[in-house]
Amino acid sequence: MKKIAILGSTGSIGTQTLEIVRDNPDLQVVGLTAGTNIDLLEKQVREFRPRLVSLQNEAACRELKIRLADMEVQIVPGMEGLLAVAEMEDSEILVTAIVGMIGIQPTIAAIKKRKDIALANKETLVTAGHIIMPLAAKMGVSILPVDSEHSAIFQSLQGENKESVSKLLITASGGPFRGRTRQELSQVQLEDALKHPNWSMGHKITIDSATLVNKGLEVMEAKWLFGVDLNQIQVVVHPQSIIHSMVEYVDGGIIAQLGTPDMKLPIQYALFYPDRRPMAGKKVDFYALGNITFEKPDMETFVGLKLAMRAAVDGGSMPTVFNAANEKAVSLFLDRKVQFLQIPEIIEMCMDAHHRIENPNVEDILRTEQETYELINTKFMEKIYY
Ligand code: NAD
Ligand code: MG
Repeated sequence: MKKIAILGSTGSIGTQTLEIVRDNPDLQVVGLTAGTNIDLLEKQVREFRPRLVSLQNEAACRELKIRLADMEVQIVPGMEGLLAVAEMEDSEILVTAIVGMIGIQPTIAAIKKRKDIALANKETLVTAGHIIMPLAAKMGVSILPVDSEHSAIFQSLQGENKESVSKLLITASGGPFRGRTRQELSQVQLEDALKHPNWSMGHKITIDSATLVNKGLEVMEAKWLFGVDLNQIQVVVHPQSIIHSMVEYVDGGIIAQLGTPDMKLPIQYALFYPDRRPMAGKKVDFYALGNITFEKPDMETFVGLKLAMRAAVDGGSMPTVFNAANEKAVSLFLDRKVQFLQIPEIIEMCMDAHHRIENPNVEDILRTEQETYELINTKFMEKIYY
């Protein structure tokens, strides 16, 4: 029996993780957390019987306690609950399926308790990779990638010598607006941005895919996960999302991982690594597929990727500013308070205003996050509203 805990069990990655648990009776869920979706968390508790769960606020936790009066389950609100689930004594692996920088502290807490991490929450590694990767090495903990590109790279590295790697090739679908001009992007609506051509995901990452910010975050995530230089990472647009990413070796040989766009494969691979388990679902049909194609990303139109590369090169606290500004800008866009092209504008304004910290600790990172939000709320408000 492998015991797992999940942060963000009601989201896209969280619910797909629970589908895998349903199909594999040797997985047992001991802890779950959610933001505000009390109905779904209640259902999950009844089905998977964890002994500890958490919701974001206290009132919701009180309500859940009443609803689950017939069950033996402990309920702890907010950050305290996230930390308690991350640190649960009997869990062996923590799935970080929560969205945003709120994942930093629980991820660190879990590593300190020697839990392996099935990492979906890329924002954590982007902003605190310099803390998390050495800590994981020190504690002898594995960070197993769930992000499909990083899982593909991880799979393509199996059995190879790390010194023989020359380049990581991260594929990108290009999102729903691939091929559009800036003029066209100025007109796009929230509904258009939420229509990803290949993947079904949470709202925040779906918008990040439309701006190509997601690909920028993934470059930074890859740098930390695989310990390579930025100049060894190349983004390749591949609209069909069949090749999930590739590794080029010193002899020019390239190893890739392919499959239909389904997050359950990388989630399952992380949970059972190094084993593979059967999985139901559509397989790639090459006769039906016909062609796959490749392009260079258009960084002049999709400025979000260019800004991400600038933040990655600057390093220190700059990726935190990039990420925090993006989180805030995306939430304003989801609330229809800013336009699509204002997302990279807000990020750039925040990066330009920031005095970079060389080697930020967790406190510095969280303070920088708050300062970035405040900057957007105060100084830039009149510029960013419609
Ligand atoms: P989602 O929005 O669907 O789900 C997020 C989960 O976190 C939900 O359970 C939500 O209730 C919880 N949550 C959000 N804010 C919270 C808060 N303040 N306190 C407590 N809980 C909170 O997101 P998702 O698409 O599943 O993505 C999760 C993470 O995985 C993100 O970091 C994303 O970048 C990454 N990721 C997702 C996919 C995908 O296919 N969805 C692919 C690769 C990587
Ligand atoms: Mg991805």
